[in-house]
Amino acid sequence: MSETARRYLESFFGSVGIDELIRTYGSPLYVYQETQLRQRCREMQQLIQGVPFAAHYSVKANTNIELLRIARDEGLHADAMSPGEILALEAAGYEADSIFFIPNNVSSDELRFAAERGILISVDSLDQLDALGTVQPGGRVALRLNPGIGAGHHEKVVTAGDETKFGISEAQIDDALVIARRHRLTITGLNQHIGSLFMEPEPYLAAAERLLSVAVRFPDLEMIDFGGGFGIPYHKMAGEARLDLDQLGRRLSEMATRFAAGWPRPLMFMSEPGRYIAAEAGVLIGTVHALKSNGKRIYAGTDIGFNVLARPMLYDAWHDLLVTRQDRLLADAPLQTVTVTGNICESGDRIAIDRPLPEMKAGDRILVLDAGAYGYSMSSNYNQRLRPAEVLLTAAGETRLIRRRDTYEDLLRGMLFPVERTPSD
Ligand SMILES: *Cc1c(COP(=O)(O)O)cnc(C)c1O
Repeated sequence: MSETARRYLESFFGSVGIDELIRTYGSPLYVYQETQLRQRCREMQQLIQGVPFAAHYSVKANTNIELLRIARDEGLHADAMSPGEILALEAAGYEADSIFFIPNNVSSDELRFAAERGILISVDSLDQLDALGTVQPGGRVALRLNPGIGAGHHEKVVTAGDETKFGISEAQIDDALVIARRHRLTITGLNQHIGSLFMEPEPYLAAAERLLSVAVRFPDLEMIDFGGGFGIPYHKMAGEARLDLDQLGRRLSEMATRFAAGWPRPLMFMSEPGRYIAAEAGVLIGTVHALKSNGKRIYAGTDIGFNVLARPMLYDAWHDLLVTRQDRLLADAPLQTVTVTGNICESGDRIAIDRPLPEMKAGDRILVLDAGAYGYSMSSNYNQRLRPAEVLLTAAGETRLIRRRDTYEDLLRGMLFPVERTPSD
């Protein structure tokens, strides 16, 4: 592991010093790597060949405008889940025709927000189809179907099948067609999303096949979106293999090409990767503040609470961890089994449980790998804590602040009564 870790650090940070980053931007800190991000964008853009295709970056994974600009520069389109995400995309320069709005349980005002901008909306229930028909009668619409097949790393992220709130089931298609006709809506797109973090191509391919078999019922289709969920190797320090994107892409390309050849109008194909684009391009750096033992466990207390990184607490998610001391990887130090915790007042505030890590002491840095997706975007001010800064390591080797750390003023802004004294940061 230590050689793998050394190579990883070298390729991610180059000559940029970790302690220097923390001295400049504060701890904890999200650090992103432009070259990695571009590489993942390119792999996704190549996924389906032989037919028109664009990957839609699913913005909720990471909404930093600078990263959105890079994805756009690489030719990606984008999926938004909310008006706020649409505004972030507009700020990053995306035009209406490269945004796809895929909301769930939104108000008519939110539907109108997107419709007035000319953004294609995918609805995922009969009621929302009806609401959209009232907002833009005679317009275009996409349907999010539930193919009855789910996948994912945790029950909370399986987003198709009988046990989820998402999508219109095949049994409801007749009703959907009636509602669309009543509002003179043209159904021009279909999408689905079976869940997050699959590492084997099979469930995705099976769901894609299913979507195409249903697609023939919608004669006006111009686009078919197979969904997201492409997994990344969170256990890369143990040598976990990558998702075989080549094989997946080849089979999707065959399917799409065959389908498009029999379709009477031009068809665009899409995918919706979120995590795959952003996760590996981000590392979260924190600082160790206290070591102690309670009962049988040794605890390493850090400043990475679940307000900064929620995935371990929410999904029991694994992130590889590395430890540095004065910019040097602690790789050869004796291992100790520790539970790594944050500074939030809850016992569930743990990044890793009983993890063998090099013996740490206060002042060491802890690096949480693959934190670029669902990291900052799920962070909060819980316990009235400041969300960290975000920094980009550019392809040119520069370090650029792309979001400042919260200030205490930020925390108090928006509350009704002006506060006379604010603590200085
Ligand atoms: C979250 C989401 C995605 C992206 O999921 P990833 O696992 O990050 O690829 C794609 N489509 C929809 C509709 C989503 O809600």
